[in-house]
Amino acid sequence: MTITQQLDFGREAALAGTPCPEPLIRWIETLPVDLIEIHNKIAESGHGVWVVGGCVRDALLGVLNGDIDLCSTCTPEKVMELFKEQAIPTGIEFGTVTIKGENQHYELTTLRSEGMYRDGRRPDQVTWGTSLEEDLSRRDFTFNSMAVDLARRLLYDPFNGTKDMEEHIVRAVGDPMQRCDEDGLRIFRAYRFLDRGQLGLWNLEGTLHRAMQSKQPILAKVAIERKWTEFRKIMMGRNAAEVLNLMIEDGTIQHIMPSLRFISSELLALFGKHVNDSWLLKHRLGFLLVEFSRAEVKRTLGDLKLSKSLLNETIRFHRNLGTIPGAHTSSLRVFRYCLGEDAPLHLEIQGLLYHESVKVHGQGVLEGNMSEVKHKWSSLDPQQTPNESLVNGHWIMMRTGVEKGVRLGRLKNWLHRLQIEHDITEVNGIEQHLSRIPWQHGDPLKWPQLHFP
Ligand code: ATP
Ligand code: MG
Repeated sequence: MTITQQLDFGREAALAGTPCPEPLIRWIETLPVDLIEIHNKIAESGHGVWVVGGCVRDALLGVLNGDIDLCSTCTPEKVMELFKEQAIPTGIEFGTVTIKGENQHYELTTLRSEGMYRDGRRPDQVTWGTSLEEDLSRRDFTFNSMAVDLARRLLYDPFNGTKDMEEHIVRAVGDPMQRCDEDGLRIFRAYRFLDRGQLGLWNLEGTLHRAMQSKQPILAKVAIERKWTEFRKIMMGRNAAEVLNLMIEDGTIQHIMPSLRFISSELLALFGKHVNDSWLLKHRLGFLLVEFSRAEVKRTLGDLKLSKSLLNETIRFHRNLGTIPGAHTSSLRVFRYCLGEDAPLHLEIQGLLYHESVKVHGQGVLEGNMSEVKHKWSSLDPQQTPNESLVNGHWIMMRTGVEKGVRLGRLKNWLHRLQIEHDITEVNGIEQHLSRIPWQHGDPLKWPQLHFP
């Protein structure tokens, strides 16, 4: 049975559609069964239902996008009733209900005809509509304002998004000045959609670009969380350096990461040349902010209300970039232990900073013997010793008579360091080192510890 036979015809849109082009047909045929079931339930209830937004755009481009959004004439209350425990009212005041499918969630939004946007953020009031055309007209860019009738296999593209995609143009639906006034976030979204990954960098339509520059004060009103959601996608883009460069030129970077106004053009160029999919967000942020002091970076990232883990990992990566590990096998073993799977990328990134003589942390260039480090690193044997300490506090107390307290904790850490430095696999080896180190003397706070730098 083909998917066409499984699909129910719901209410038809009062809008001229065109037969779906080949890539869309192919995409429709791959849609998951649970989505078809959801579609049919709404269609059977006598409502119109369409797939809409990013998934249509990406299907036409032949780009994978697992996020499938639906819109419908069915009111949110009715959707809740139809889908019962399958439905989660994630944004019901804006008409959005999330429907749990077999393996994924789908967002279903009731068609809207919105009131005014007086605060530049959210519509003052949302009223449910029945016109697909009106719903599409309040979306942001022409290529995001397309919908598909799955059963009839019709594409609705009232603003010629397909043509703009062919010509690689990011164009607002309607008057760009007004659309940026309504919701300042669209300025950031426009930058985000410039970067089409492997398809390269697209172009901003002229009046949209002028609106983005002149309406940027409105970005101050947009919640930081919404701006960050778009900005992190910009940062993760394949062509992020070019987009960031444009944001710096336009001045809009001011509204998310003001420090980046002062990034050196050499560092941004280096980023553009070398960034790849293995660079996670923390690496990208840490690299781009490497010229700034730790305090500046903490302030910059603190303002973004990042998750604690992303914040801490970025600060750590940024800090670690300031130190080239020692070029000895033992130092490199400690470095590897402390950085874990980050270690190879750390060295790669540090190599770039070193060779281009980038000033790090608001101070001088990196010091160390990078070529020797890289040489030693490449011949380092895989770690044999377990990550955990081979001996515990009890064992140390029995051997040394040291009692619980700072001295014991520090000695334990010192022995752990020796274990990693010498890649010791037997307790016996620890015992030998214990007999050689001067643990009876000196200030324990000055004993070697297992950390990097
Ligand atoms: P992605 O696939 O990267 O998620 P997307 O286009 O689906 O891209 P979303 O943020 O998920 O982006 O938004 C879904 C759709 O909602 C968009 O395609 C667009 O039609 C509409 N939309 C989202 N944000 C806005 C906005 N601020 N103003 C107008 N329309 C918007
Ligand atoms: Mg989406």
